[in-house]
Amino acid sequence: ILSVRDLTKVFGEGEAQAKVLKGIDLTMAPGEMAALLGPSGSGKSTLLTILGTLMRASGGRHEMLGVDLMQASDAERTAFRSRHLGFVFQFHHLLPDLTALENVMMPAAAAAGRESRAMRERAAELLDAVGLADRRDYRPGALSGGQRQRVAVARALINQPVLVLADEPTGNLDRQAADQVMQLIRSINQTLATSFLISTHDEHIAGQCPRRIELLDGRIVRS
Ligand code: ATP
Ligand code: MG
Repeated sequence: ILSVRDLTKVFGEGEAQAKVLKGIDLTMAPGEMAALLGPSGSGKSTLLTILGTLMRASGGRHEMLGVDLMQASDAERTAFRSRHLGFVFQFHHLLPDLTALENVMMPAAAAAGRESRAMRERAAELLDAVGLADRRDYRPGALSGGQRQRVAVARALINQPVLVLADEPTGNLDRQAADQVMQLIRSINQTLATSFLISTHDEHIAGQCPRRIELLDGRIVRS
């Protein structure tokens, strides 16, 4: 589903120029679940942001599902993103004024430009799947950290993405809540064959992923 070749990212210009990704080669197969490890500043978030089409690489090849994302226009990349990709971040980024159900539905409603009964039903099913059927009408402020992150996982799945990019999804959670979120991700990976790429500093979390990819100073040193 994903093929990246000699991918580079340079920030800044002239004296202040910094090469943050120094030639990344990476492929992912359907249904793969991988941990992305590496010290702080090694480029994990930068790589996830580029793979998520939220930022363009400086050079190299970036293809997904046969689409050349380097050549694609901004509009094509945006359409690709809402169709095929899902995101989970360290901080849940739920909208505080929307209920759990409305938050889960939001990416679908935004992509379609309106809400529908089918979306609402699917969002309710997803909340059920993440064990929060009874919290559907709660706002994020009335949920625990682990519950919020499970809502964020449900939201990432609403458009049935082939790949979910998760940047330290459990970084803000205690061990028990982190394990619950990982268990949830594993079961989604197995039942829906959704691929996951999960950055983490936590060996315990990485150990729950069948594949590990290690970044060091902008290069993959182990995959
Ligand atoms: P952490 O584990 O702390 O989250 P990381 O592996 O996710 O680290 P990145 O956030 O990808 O690291 O950052 C990699 C390097 O790129 C850092 O040195 C950072 O300062 C630099 N960097 C990231 N974004 C920018 C930007 N927009 N402009 C300039 N430099 C940037
Ligand atoms: Mg990071």
